Amino acid sequence: MLVTTHAMVAATVAIKTGNPYIYIPFAAADHFTFDAFPHFGGKWINDHFKSVAIIDAVVGITLFLILARYTKFSVLILLAVCLLAGWPDLLWLTKRRRFPKFFKFHAGIQKFEATSGILIEVAIVAVCLALIFV
Ligand SMILES: [Zn+2]
Repeated sequence: MLVTTHAMVAATVAIKTGNPYIYIPFAAADHFTFDAFPHFGGKWINDHFKSVAIIDAVVGITLFLILARYTKFSVLILLAVCLLAGWPDLLWLTKRRRFPKFFKFHAGIQKFEATSGILIEVAIVAVCLALIFV
């Protein structure tokens, strides 16, 4: 699952509940729970990994800036929640070879990846934005 989607789900729970006893554990568990559900991935994403990572970063940062600008939630806490939800994929980008058991687990839970999973992720992000702004 894209980092943007993980971060948006966690940010939505944080903004809507405002309760750190709910949104911090949720953000910590969000990644592994949502990676086990059908999502964007598979051979195509592996073949275009760099481009997908750049687009994910641009969209994620843009959405973060929108949330920072148009919600009254603390920007620093919002950033921490987004990083907490996305850290396994961010770690994947940087120190992949240092934690082989973790990466084996992380890859192993992603059993339902498909290119068409992008539709699921766009729908999740759209629902999050609707919950926050509508
Ligand atoms: Zn992941």
